[in-house]
Amino acid sequence: MFKEWAGYLKPEDMTRLETAYHFSENAHSGQFRASGEPYVSHPLAVANILAQLHLDPQALTAALLHDVMEDTEVSKAEIAKKFGNPVAELVDGVSKLDRIEFETKEEAQAENFRKMLLAMARDVRVILIKLADRLHNMRTLDAVPPAKRYRVARETLDIYAPIANRLGLNGIYQELEDLCFRHLYPARQRVLSKALKSARGNRREVVGKVLDAIRKKLAHDKVEAVVQGREKHLFSIYRKMREKQLAFAKVLDVFGFRIIVKDVPSCYLTLGALHGLYKPIPGGFKDYIAIPKANGYQSLHTKLFGPFGSPLEVQIRTQEMHKIAEAGVASHWLYKSSDSSLNDLQQKTHQWLQSLLEIQSGSGDSVEFLEHVKFDLFPDEVYVFTPKGRILALPRGATPVDFAYAVHTDIGNRCVAVKINDELVPLRTELRNGDRVEIITASHAKPNPMWLNYVNTGRARAQIRHFLKTVQYEESAHIGERLLNQALGTLQTSNGTITETQWSKLLKDSGVKSRRDILADIGLGKRLGVVVARRLLALSEAHLVERKPAAPIVIRGTEGMAVQFAQCCHPIPGDPIIGLINKGQGMLIHTHDCPLIGKTRSDPDKVFDVEWAPETKKLFNVSIRIVVINQQGVLAKVAAEIADADSNIDNVAVVPEAGDQYATMNFTLQVANRPHLAKIMRALRSIPEVIRITRVKN
Ligand code: MN
Repeated sequence: MFKEWAGYLKPEDMTRLETAYHFSENAHSGQFRASGEPYVSHPLAVANILAQLHLDPQALTAALLHDVMEDTEVSKAEIAKKFGNPVAELVDGVSKLDRIEFETKEEAQAENFRKMLLAMARDVRVILIKLADRLHNMRTLDAVPPAKRYRVARETLDIYAPIANRLGLNGIYQELEDLCFRHLYPARQRVLSKALKSARGNRREVVGKVLDAIRKKLAHDKVEAVVQGREKHLFSIYRKMREKQLAFAKVLDVFGFRIIVKDVPSCYLTLGALHGLYKPIPGGFKDYIAIPKANGYQSLHTKLFGPFGSPLEVQIRTQEMHKIAEAGVASHWLYKSSDSSLNDLQQKTHQWLQSLLEIQSGSGDSVEFLEHVKFDLFPDEVYVFTPKGRILALPRGATPVDFAYAVHTDIGNRCVAVKINDELVPLRTELRNGDRVEIITASHAKPNPMWLNYVNTGRARAQIRHFLKTVQYEESAHIGERLLNQALGTLQTSNGTITETQWSKLLKDSGVKSRRDILADIGLGKRLGVVVARRLLALSEAHLVERKPAAPIVIRGTEGMAVQFAQCCHPIPGDPIIGLINKGQGMLIHTHDCPLIGKTRSDPDKVFDVEWAPETKKLFNVSIRIVVINQQGVLAKVAAEIADADSNIDNVAVVPEAGDQYATMNFTLQVANRPHLAKIMRALRSIPEVIRITRVKN
């Protein structure tokens, strides 16, 4: 029996396979498949699939025995004794994949995945056996009850088919997908399969003509080549229809062509010849020879305008590339050759497995591990970690700001800096797979409009826009309401006495939609509170009464846009202050004695009484001028005293005085309030070189 399909083996190996077969038959005696066949038919079929990939005798032996540890009394030690340790390890590896009891479906898949990949990392033959096992189970799925059928097909499509694809096992990959399609969507599969059959019938003649034309052209150009027509697998056609929302009639390229040549230069010669024969479709050319796919696949792909109005897809490759395209990682066994591309593929696969193993050792959670593994199977996304080890999937190109908003809107809105893998990096840094991202937030921080230039997710973009719009508006409306109340106060009335009629008249007159809009305008300084107050009162036809001083507006320093601090006098808490309304700028706070206020001081429409809140929680800029004896190291002494007094230096300029004996230092410092400033100045006076200190207010 093994002679027929394992003829590549030595006679003694075949004898051992016979022994293994009988051992398995014996162990499984009395067990039957859902189809009613004796159980041993299954391991035999699995071994047969692997023999087609020319796997070595150990792997075939293990395939024959792959279910005995799981389903019978046979132990690993017994297998090791009879068939050697390597075979026992392989059987054990496969068995472990099936053995674990799972709590949830999601966990079940993930755990499977983890175990499988762990096993793979030790020996890729374990996964080849597992894939062959799954392929045979899928081929015989009709015998299984419908509910289980669906579950197995789903799992195969989600997990096993992508692995087969990643390992370049093209034949297995396509067959798995087509079988899943048949069991998951039976109706669609039937319709599509029928449509495809008739389309292929109709096009047979066309295909024959194209093949002829290509062969003639290549012969004329003296390129040795094998030219084949190629049927695409059903699921890939279905996937294309679904992804591109196409009707079947629009999926014209159900037939492909493949040209196999002797070396790489011939590939490009062939490409040139084809483009001379039929016009290439712009954007339809891909060079996977120069840039191979992750699974080692190499070929040239081109799309051409065919002779009968439908596009032609052509793959061009060498014989070596063809072998890898068909069997991927298994081509190592299939073609025992010293070809460097095969060695390269082996090495790449090994690296991939190794990296998975490294990730695995760092995390015990299998759902998490599944997410890790998706890295390589789903290249359009990046997977990154929160500091607590949760995994987030983001589109490729995402930045820490996208990450912050993905975690929580508040984290995004308060984000000020980021550490990636414990290193501070700019917020615009592109995230990479496996990055550990730690967002640093500050309670008063706000989104920066600049972020819109580099965020990559719709969520982050929308949240930033939303914040900038509403928060600024809300702040302004809030301060506007206080300003209006104060203005009404000076007119001896209050907001409460203004009627709805007065408001609606005002809105109508000024062409504004809502009361909040008016208040926001006041807060932004686009309208004057006093003017609005007067107009409201005028609309009530009430008499204007004598003014009396209004209660001052309280300033906390955290009002935002609508309240700003004058750059001339740098007011700090403790200073007597006044508020000036500037058109379009909201309220500007000056010190009471600021020399730049000038005439405005007496304009009651522009000046407002303001006072500091009893406690402010912000640092304010203040300017001081220090005259010192011009000696080496004075600046350092001054700076040290300032730092000791818990202040920051925002800016410093040193101007030498005439004669070089003295120098003037102009500092901008950040202080909490006047006592803080006084403390700093006291400390500075204690430096012997300091002659004079003054606060600057213009
Ligand atoms: Mn099995």
